[in-house]
Amino acid sequence: MGLKESYDLAVIGAGPGGYVAAVRAAQLGMKTACVEKEGSLGGACLNVGCIPSKALLDSTELYSLARLHFKEHGLGVGDLRVELSAMMRRKDRVVEELGEHVRKLLESHGVRVIRGMGRLRGPGAVEVRGETEGTGRNSTELLRAKYVLLATGSAPVEVPGLPFDGDRIVSSTEALAFESVPATLGIVGGGYIGLELGSVWSRLGSRVTVLEMMPTIAGTLDRQIGRSLLRILGRQGMEFRLSARVGRAEVLEEGVRVTIEAGDGEETLKFDRLLVAVGRRPLTKDLGLDEVGVRVDSRTGQVWTDAAYRTSVPTVYAIGDLVAGPMLAHKASAEGVAAVECMAGLPGEVNYDVIPSVVYTLPEVASVGLTEEQTRQRGIPHRIGTFPFSGVARAVCMGETEGLVKIIAHEHSDRILGVHILGPRASELIAECALAMELDARASDLVRAIHAHPTLSESILEAARALPRVSLKK
Ligand code: FAD
Ligand code: NAD
Repeated sequence: MGLKESYDLAVIGAGPGGYVAAVRAAQLGMKTACVEKEGSLGGACLNVGCIPSKALLDSTELYSLARLHFKEHGLGVGDLRVELSAMMRRKDRVVEELGEHVRKLLESHGVRVIRGMGRLRGPGAVEVRGETEGTGRNSTELLRAKYVLLATGSAPVEVPGLPFDGDRIVSSTEALAFESVPATLGIVGGGYIGLELGSVWSRLGSRVTVLEMMPTIAGTLDRQIGRSLLRILGRQGMEFRLSARVGRAEVLEEGVRVTIEAGDGEETLKFDRLLVAVGRRPLTKDLGLDEVGVRVDSRTGQVWTDAAYRTSVPTVYAIGDLVAGPMLAHKASAEGVAAVECMAGLPGEVNYDVIPSVVYTLPEVASVGLTEEQTRQRGIPHRIGTFPFSGVARAVCMGETEGLVKIIAHEHSDRILGVHILGPRASELIAECALAMELDARASDLVRAIHAHPTLSESILEAARALPRVSLKK
């Protein structure tokens, strides 16, 4: 066992939860170490998640625009070709550049980054097993820390009848790095990953079929928005089989045969490759949780925490994909900051009612707050205002008029309960709505705020204007 060094905080995992927490801790004067098992920092988000997927979505969106829309702008391109290896190299460069940025950020804040597998050895002890750099030999180091923050994230769920083989039956990690465009791609799961990576490969020419066991895609979306998105993606060429549960698949020499349960019977379909994207599970294995007494929910596999992110062992905290709530990078970062602030005696908290989420399709979908269905289920009196992008001058200039903005406001108080945007740059537009909700603004405040003309943001102004008038409570 190597030297025992003491820290105020030892973070296990350098994803958007862990590294952001480590930086905040250093800013608050805590002596901090961050343990990461992979050679690159940034976690699933930076290496095999948010960033590589968006790099490919951005590249393929340009390709789609050039192929389908340049002509209407009076632009002719001669020989438009996909050079997949160059596209993949660009994606890898983006990931590398941002990984380097995370390394410098931690370094400049004086956080010690330790490469190796972290494991709890007590309420304030972390064992790190790794290779000593340049020697090829394994070494073990024991860190002492007043607090430990678990931020080990998640991994793709593997369905027993659909085991990953890394080639024909793959997870999102491999689907971000195919060396050629599969002629046919089956995707199990019409959630975030299915829709985003389905869009990437469909734009590149693959015949994509999404197999979703529920009657709707992306089940967390407002139903009206989900239905419109389904229609638009269908028009773009993606095929959808809804209420179709995939139970098993068989790898053939030339592809994969998939058995789906739809309606009363079974059906088989054949694809070149199958992407299984049915959710992610928290990564708790080999962390020493049982030995130390950190409680894990046996049903969800999530680490239990209280509102201050303390686990059942009070000096051990947990955040991000490892704990309850949506598996989103910005949620993990917000929890990382809040957890560290709680350790430092500050009032750290996350407002779970106002976490924006985005599906990066074309057009994008962005939401914050309650859906219309949730508002009804809770029996909240409400009004709804919608506005189509076809009436937004800037969207018409851009030639991107599909979609709408939908604002749900309280019937009497005019408080904003939820905003759902399907349209160009929805991912950017949602920030105004999240800020308004965080500041407890009324929908009328969105109308009073002057929006520059012509901009896409006028869609929000107009949807707020379209709300029926507040009915005063009698
Ligand atoms: P992670 O990012 O998973 O980081 C955990 C880190 O801990 C990893 O680096 C891991 O190597 C390390 N680790 C694990 N065990 C140990 C150990 N024992 N010792 C040392 N290190 C360990 N979210 C969004 O908000 N927007 C998006 O656009 C988006 N796109 C996505 C696209 C894809 C394809 C995928 C798969 C996910 C996407 N997500 C997106 C989800 C997002 O990636 C996660 O919510 C986020 O990464 C969670 O952050 P985290 O810090 O909790 O965990
Ligand atoms: P998901 O939970 O978004 O979607 C999984 C889908 O698979 C669901 O619709 C579910 O009904 C379906 N499903 C489950 N079992 C099935 C079966 N046997 N047959 C057919 N359908 C089945 O999960 P995901 O797409 O794997 O993404 C994982 C997580 O990563 C997401 O929940 C999200 O938190 C995160 N993510 C976020 C973004 C983003 O923010 N833009 C992008 C990608 C991933």
